[in-house]
Amino acid sequence: MTKLSILYEGKAKILYETNVSNELIQFFKDDATAHNAQKLEIINSKGIINNYISEYIMNFLGKKGVDNHFIKRVNSREQLIRKVKIIPIEFVVRNFAFGSIIKRYNLSKEYKFKKPLIELFLKKDELNDPLINDDLIIELGWVNISELEDLKNKALIINEHLVNLFSKINIELIDFKIEFGKTVNDNKNKLILADEISPDNCRLWDKSTKKNFDKDIFRNNTGDLIKGYQEIVNRFEIKIES
Ligand code: UDP
Repeated sequence: MTKLSILYEGKAKILYETNVSNELIQFFKDDATAHNAQKLEIINSKGIINNYISEYIMNFLGKKGVDNHFIKRVNSREQLIRKVKIIPIEFVVRNFAFGSIIKRYNLSKEYKFKKPLIELFLKKDELNDPLINDDLIIELGWVNISELEDLKNKALIINEHLVNLFSKINIELIDFKIEFGKTVNDNKNKLILADEISPDNCRLWDKSTKKNFDKDIFRNNTGDLIKGYQEIVNRFEIKIES
């Protein structure tokens, strides 16, 4: 497999074409952004840690039957993934109220939802990723009604698996964001989990102390981000080779 030209560069990752038409290389950068990229810093080795954590979680979900884009890790910063056309909708699943939803609806912090709640956001930086509803998603045509229902179901199933996974290391999964994509060049057009799952897009709190090990450390300047992410690596006993 040979790495070819850049297909897309985002805030935290770069996607490269490869000589295999339906496979890409996903490169994890050290860039950290928050507040719609108004706060930006390079945090040494964040990309490496997220590469390993995302590998661990995608492998775990794959074993649970959640079809996803991960094929294999290539080196400390890169993984081979299936090429998909990303659906520009961010699926946020919330078990407890925190972050933007608190301000939006004046909810009390850490309110536990009676059942996991899904919010959908349009993935568009220029518009600051606005909330979007089912009707508009269907109207704009990225997915049809049954595909949207399927994706929401998948998001809830993923939540169940992740809540269990993190519980084993005494972590409460407060919320997380995932993205899905349609497979390309394989005549199947399947909708599968894509992007990454790492402390960059989850809220992860110690169940006993409520200390957090996620990107809020960077968003709110509350300590050393790498120490926080490393705690997740250690609790999962992930071996990072440097
Ligand atoms: N999230 C993300 N990317 C985004 C927005 C949110 O990964 O562009 C994640 C975030 O890390 C959190 C969850 O989605 O785990 C819910 O985020 P929220 O809507 O509360 O927004 P925030 O408070 O981060 O602005």
